[in-house]
Amino acid sequence: MDDCIFCKIISGDVPCYKIYEDEYVLAFLDINPVVNGHTLVIPKKHFVNIFDVDNFYLEKVTAAIKKISVHYNQKFDGINILNANDKSAQQSVFHLHFHIIPRTIDDGKDFWPYKEVLDKTDLKTMAERLKL
Ligand code: 5GP
Ligand code: ZN
Repeated sequence: MDDCIFCKIISGDVPCYKIYEDEYVLAFLDINPVVNGHTLVIPKKHFVNIFDVDNFYLEKVTAAIKKISVHYNQKFDGINILNANDKSAQQSVFHLHFHIIPRTIDDGKDFWPYKEVLDKTDLKTMAERLKL
């Protein structure tokens, strides 16, 4: 896609610090890292997000995430994997991407949202509403 920054990174029109690449997937450092090693993993074909990606590319991206995660786990103390889909979920670049956020034991970060305690009777209603 012409006006997509990640498509420009894939084509080489915009530079990046590459971490991993294969025929279907590219991983590179986030330009605005929230921790050292903050990495983005993207399909080399333009999909907006999880809602339109096809399973073939999603599987390739997932396999790359696993490979990179295992590699990073030897250099850090764990990782978070984050992914935003649509504006309400704070997606800002509309080319599917997964954030790999390396963690260290004493980094003092908190990437887990505040857990508001809800009435547990809501769980039954919610399960009925959401069941596939
Ligand atoms: P989102 O907010 O959509 O989940 O994440 C988009 C991410 O892309 C942000 O963390 C942002 O820093 C990163 N980003 C945006 N533009 C560029 C760019 O040109 N190069 C790189 N390497 N990362 C980018
Ligand atoms: Zn794109």
